[in-house]
Amino acid sequence: MTAITQAQIEMLISLQNIEFSKIEVKKTLDAVAAKVAQLEGELKTFSDDVESEKQKLRDSQARCAEFEEQIQTNDTLVGKIEEKRRSVKTEREYQSLIKEEEQLRARKSQIEDEMIVCMDQIEATTQAIATKEKELQQIQQQVEDDIQGVQQEASASETRHADLAREWEAMATDIDARLLEKFVKVKSQTTDGRALAPVRDAICMACHMNIPPQMYNELQRFDSLKLCPFCFRILYWDNASGA
Ligand SMILES: [Zn+2]
Repeated sequence: MTAITQAQIEMLISLQNIEFSKIEVKKTLDAVAAKVAQLEGELKTFSDDVESEKQKLRDSQARCAEFEEQIQTNDTLVGKIEEKRRSVKTEREYQSLIKEEEQLRARKSQIEDEMIVCMDQIEATTQAIATKEKELQQIQQQVEDDIQGVQQEASASETRHADLAREWEAMATDIDARLLEKFVKVKSQTTDGRALAPVRDAICMACHMNIPPQMYNELQRFDSLKLCPFCFRILYWDNASGA
């Protein structure tokens, strides 16, 4: 049986309160980290979108350049045919050249139509990029402001967290080493970080189970360390119930 005094119990309660404050501050810091990650993710999605529009533009420009080249080749071929036509000997040869030239001109007109579509695409994409880049700039500014805001909030929390950690250390040095060890061990075994549980009217306030009457009586003497038989937390009698 570990001996304990009421003063020691009170120190453990203070220690636990510091612990709770630390948990709360940690939650704020985690929320800040999550918020920053979310904002950065949104920004990334948006700039990826702008980048994909730019790729679309490059593709259209490349296609347009190809069409231009095809038209030039076509013009060269037509020129050559016109040259040949001047020196043909037979009507049949002449007709064959005319037919070839017609085909080339028809193909050229087809390429020109495709090129118009391609140039329209370039124009539309260029406009879309301009609009999106403007939007991106605004979002970037917004995200930077937001991140700065949450980081300022975090900085205050970090200071608070460091203060609490120091308070914890200072408090811990005053507590009996074995008792502190017990406290830390029990705390590590709970899911909510609560090592201590008040007992009111013979009920453990952590797990809401009834404490055996004998144990309840002993608790009120504040002279030995008692663990809840159900949730294994360190118990202390909380006479705030007016008993
Ligand atoms: Zn309990």
